[in-house]
Amino acid sequence: MLHLTLVAALFPGPASLHGPLISPTRELYRPACVAGACAGSRRAARAANHAPVPQPWGPNGHAITGWAAAMTLPEAMPAFFRGAAAQLAYLNYDPDRWRERRFPEMDRASAWEHYIDLEVVPPEAFQAEDRFAYLRALEATELAEPARDAGLLPFRILELVQRLTKEFSLWRKASDPAERPWIEERIVNDAGILGHYVADAANPQHTTVHHNGWADGYANPQGFTTERTFHRRFETDFVKAHITLDDVLPRLTPGTSEIRDARAAILGLIRDSHAQVPRLYQLEREFGFAADRAAPQTRAFAAERLAASARMLRDLWWSAWLRSAAIG
Ligand SMILES: [Zn+2]
Repeated sequence: MLHLTLVAALFPGPASLHGPLISPTRELYRPACVAGACAGSRRAARAANHAPVPQPWGPNGHAITGWAAAMTLPEAMPAFFRGAAAQLAYLNYDPDRWRERRFPEMDRASAWEHYIDLEVVPPEAFQAEDRFAYLRALEATELAEPARDAGLLPFRILELVQRLTKEFSLWRKASDPAERPWIEERIVNDAGILGHYVADAANPQHTTVHHNGWADGYANPQGFTTERTFHRRFETDFVKAHITLDDVLPRLTPGTSEIRDARAAILGLIRDSHAQVPRLYQLEREFGFAADRAAPQTRAFAAERLAASARMLRDLWWSAWLRSAAIG
């Protein structure tokens, strides 16, 4: 706590994150199912659940993740990076700011990188060498469109971790003082974008077919909500109204951990999030997630998921820096 109090004093963060922010409503990544293609089979039921819904974590949850991760970095992290906390927090939401349906080529190129529906992915697919081999592995399943129906989230995170590691190594070796600031800008920008996807991975809704109410075509013996507003109510409305940086910072473990196997750590976070799907739905049934209601249990749940994302993000940044010393 002493450590967190100290870093909070050094990096107080935006006053707005100590209370609710006003955020715009936006559309989510998942594309609308084409009329007539969303009824009947289990596959079609999955497609129906990919209808447009409001958006992930919302600006508040993303900014909180970026601030919390940056504020708890070790002092041995390069000073330019530790000094970029506000920028890293801003960037955490950027991939959602880029969404623009009027530019479909750009929009669809990255639309499916924000989630992974674990129920439909054979575990061995995660051993694929890269995202292309992963997609080839999914072609053996019944998924109509593997990238859309399963999602690309773990590979997106891993790709950015590796890029960040390489960029840190370039910075270490840079001999031209004119180039160093350019490399630093590249590092901060990519580290911020990495943070977006780590935050997504910590939200159980981004790891399941039940991303916006319990999915059609799946047994629902506990009577979980099927409302197609649940995604927005949890991660945007509820977080904006009830969760602040002060709720999340004390939940971060004080020590930074070095991650030696980034792929395993990323999958671990995703699986931990996925394991919380039933709990999320039970809390929704018992207390509800919405701007106008909160219980200690629902606040603790959301704060803990945001802390999990900040913890992982901080450790991935730190580990990329450490590992960069060993690569050419
Ligand atoms: Zn996202």
